[in-house]
Amino acid sequence: MSEAGKYDVAIVGGGLAGLALSIQSAKAGYKTILFEKEKYPFHKVCGEYVSLESWNFLEELGLPLSQMDLPVIKDLVVTSPNGKTLEHHLPLGGFGISRYKLDNMLAEIAKQNGVELLEETKVNDIIPGNEIFNIQSSLFNVQSKIAAGTFGKRSNLDVKWKRKFVLQKPNKLNNYIAVKYHVKTNWPGGLIALHNFKNGYCGISKIEDEKLCLCYLTTAKNLDDCNNSIEGMEKKILCSNPHLKNLFENSEKLYAHPVTISQVSFEKKSLIQDGVLMIGDAAGMITPLCGNGMSMALHASKIAFEQIDFFLRNKISRQEMERHYETNWKKQFSKRLRTGRTIQRFFGSPFLSNLLISTLKPFPFFTNKLVSQTHGQPF
Ligand SMILES: Cc1cc2nc3c(=O)[nH]c(=O)nc-3n(C[C@H](O)[C@H](O)[C@H](O)COP(=O)(O)OP(=O)(O)OC[C@H]3O[C@@H](n4cnc5c(N)ncnc54)[C@H](O)[C@@H]3O)c2cc1C
Repeated sequence: MSEAGKYDVAIVGGGLAGLALSIQSAKAGYKTILFEKEKYPFHKVCGEYVSLESWNFLEELGLPLSQMDLPVIKDLVVTSPNGKTLEHHLPLGGFGISRYKLDNMLAEIAKQNGVELLEETKVNDIIPGNEIFNIQSSLFNVQSKIAAGTFGKRSNLDVKWKRKFVLQKPNKLNNYIAVKYHVKTNWPGGLIALHNFKNGYCGISKIEDEKLCLCYLTTAKNLDDCNNSIEGMEKKILCSNPHLKNLFENSEKLYAHPVTISQVSFEKKSLIQDGVLMIGDAAGMITPLCGNGMSMALHASKIAFEQIDFFLRNKISRQEMERHYETNWKKQFSKRLRTGRTIQRFFGSPFLSNLLISTLKPFPFFTNKLVSQTHGQPF
């Protein structure tokens, strides 16, 4: 293996957290390298509803959102497994865009700004040394003053480093699977629906080009109970909700197989691991029903970059950088993650989600409060 150089900032994982951090870093003039194991563009399991919190920040990064004619989503309908509905106008709202398009456009912006972006390159380890990290990748090794872990929900590095959440036994917060389709169906552009079923929920909303993203999260047990057949599980469990039955029967699927992931965990994670700054889902994942994990990943990259910049300009020590990042991250996100975990428990049980929806229906004020508790403000 050859030594390929020295960097100010090395970033492992080119999802939203990694791409956004790399663009900020390169724009500020730092020598930046970003590793992504896949090749852009590629599909990712995600509901693809981006909270409007992120609009300004994405435009500042260089994404021309105002010119892209994307669906703006302002209304939410939640249904319970027995089909009861709760309608709600979203205080802030969001917009729809596929990860296929969003991540690819950000990757282009990163390259244009001078980020050395290595696609199809997997990082196998990050080894801390004396004020320098050794990043070992499938292509070559590099050295960097800053190492950022933006490798998402669960990666080979989480397993290699035996991070606590990987070692947890299966429980109510950590053994989920998720499935995503792009579909075409008759659907109002401004609406996002969250349909509940036994031990899971399914979101649907518009993305670009009149397509829709249909994405659901459920327990590994649900799939297990249906002989590991996704189609069988959809028929038997998801379609018990009449709204989902109608959607599955009246939608055209746009690719042959869905995109799927397993071992999704909402457990707490460490924010700093042997000096590596964890950002995005690698630092902690909000339950998808809150609909703003992407905004949190983007916002966290901004919080991290502020401290990285101070450190690289010798304004603060490494310890101060780590401490400030941790404090600012917790101030911004801890409460949201806690609320998300609490709501997640409700939506597992048909009885509780039926009850929650019936109870909230006459009290829009409380629904507003619940939605606001899991969302932030533009940053
Ligand atoms: C079912 C579901 C629905 C969701 N719906 C929504 C939604 O509607 N709205 C919303 O805002 N959020 C949603 N989320 C959450 C959102 O998808 C995440 O919070 C967001 O993608 C986090 O971004 P990230 O950059 O941290 O991670 P990711 O986007 O997952 O990026 C991590 C990247 O790291 C790469 N990688 C991993 N390991 C390595 C390695 N060793 N070397 C190199 N590269 C590596 C991966 O290939 C990946 O591209 C949903 C999540 C799920 C599970």
